[in-house]
Amino acid sequence: MKKIWLVGLVVLLIAAALLLMSPTFSKIWQGNPEESNESSQEAQPSSKEEPLEEEPPLSSSEAAVTPQEEDWRLVLVSREHPLSEEYPVQLQEVEEDFLFDERAAKDLEDMLGAAWQDGIELRLISTYRSFARSEELFTGKVEALLESGLEYEEAVREAQRWIAPPGTSEHNTGLALDVVDNEYYEDYGGYLNTPFSRYPAYRWLIENAADFGFILRYPEDKEAVTGITYEPWHYRYVGREHAKEIMERGITLEEYLGF
Ligand SMILES: [Zn+2]
Repeated sequence: MKKIWLVGLVVLLIAAALLLMSPTFSKIWQGNPEESNESSQEAQPSSKEEPLEEEPPLSSSEAAVTPQEEDWRLVLVSREHPLSEEYPVQLQEVEEDFLFDERAAKDLEDMLGAAWQDGIELRLISTYRSFARSEELFTGKVEALLESGLEYEEAVREAQRWIAPPGTSEHNTGLALDVVDNEYYEDYGGYLNTPFSRYPAYRWLIENAADFGFILRYPEDKEAVTGITYEPWHYRYVGREHAKEIMERGITLEEYLGF
């Protein structure tokens, strides 16, 4: 008799297991599919009868910092985005003989002063550059390359990697600077080259420039984006909030603006 009971029990267990596994049963178990669906949705507003009030748009001061082309600090200047010769420049002298956009000049002076206090003697090499001066530099580079044996078109193409033709240089805006320090200057003079990235001034700028609104404009490995080779000495004013985000994210102005 015991055997029969055992067999009966096993058969019952198998039947119960099969029933549990069947889709029909699991639906029944979960109850009405519509109900279960609703419970998984996000909570509905409790007062369904009342019309939903539309939230007022954030005012510009409340909104997160979004890059706007109208923001003078974010003007993009490159080969693809040349500057009009009518671009208004209001300049102010910084240090001796260096001209900078008057709206950003104080931040530049503050940065130079802060570096000095940290024992870093920054030295400006180039700030504002007129269209005429850009022209002069560019043709000078092309000529040098022609002398080195390049064909004309090749020379122009190569020169563009190093010096922006007039209207395509950030220096034409008065918002860019080439900066090294006295230590580098003693070793290399005004000749700007990548060894600058081995000097303490380079590290100081990477760590502090954004606090004054400046970004490293042509980082290493970003030539495909900027069209300009690595320039550890070239900084660009974009204002503090933009600079901090750009430097923290390790991106370029192009990427920040969505180009
Ligand atoms: Zn530069």
